[in-house]
Amino acid sequence: MKYFGAHVSASGGVQNAPRNASQIGAGAFALFTKNQRQWFAPTLTPADIEVFKTECERLGYTPAQILPHDSYLINLGHPDAEGLEKSRASFIEEMHRCELLGLDRLNFHPGSHLGRIGLEESLARVAESINIALDKTQGVTAVIENTAGQGTNLGHRFEELAYIIDRVEDKSRVGICIDTCHAFAAGYDLSSSEACAKTFSEIDKIVSLERYLKGMHLNDAMRPLGSRIDRHERLGEGQIGWDCFRFIATDPRFDNMPLVLETIDESLWAEEIAQLYAFSK
Ligand SMILES: [Zn+2]
Ligand SMILES: [Zn+2]
Repeated sequence: MKYFGAHVSASGGVQNAPRNASQIGAGAFALFTKNQRQWFAPTLTPADIEVFKTECERLGYTPAQILPHDSYLINLGHPDAEGLEKSRASFIEEMHRCELLGLDRLNFHPGSHLGRIGLEESLARVAESINIALDKTQGVTAVIENTAGQGTNLGHRFEELAYIIDRVEDKSRVGICIDTCHAFAAGYDLSSSEACAKTFSEIDKIVSLERYLKGMHLNDAMRPLGSRIDRHERLGEGQIGWDCFRFIATDPRFDNMPLVLETIDESLWAEEIAQLYAFSK
């Protein structure tokens, strides 16, 4: 089964996200379980949790169709003790929120060395952060997203994700999310089905897709291949083009996981989702 959807609004509370997804014909969705620009949030109330679960059940969303995204403030590879501590505490809280909502995965960006420590030292801190968070929570997989590699951000090469995974103790609770725009910006060509076949097999050799792929972000890219600039575009309107999304829609390696749009024009989401489902038929 293919589960296509989008990163929908949870404004007014997490319990509103399933309905927002359903209204655009989504078979999957991503959401922030709290304000993504704040470090910490009030605990979810039993009522919020109950309504969220009921809504998911009513509208047919299982955890395999839902990909929560953590706060943008968190940097699990932070060079400073204070920043690292705060990031770890906030990340554990986010994992715990997923646990309360009955969700089984949390998508996050690895972080940034900020030019103050080495790449490998920072990546090792990310792995240690994951180990700590997995130790303090249950049933939620930490899903590392590849990045565009802007500035000092970690994780634009899949070797970096492999380096982190290598150092995670419980490999059954770590995974990856491939963002197509980020991969393209990082230099992985996805602009034709031949390029996609080559790129995904290259990635698979570095990080096993079968074992670790827990979701994808489907975005076209505004900037050229290898730009290292993270600018999402509407599907088919950017440098990647429709071939990539047709490839993903028909490849069984991407079955049974949330495949979510983070494209820039939400008024087009229903249309983009319908097109993806049409490709997969
Ligand atoms: Zn992201
Ligand atoms: Zn993304």
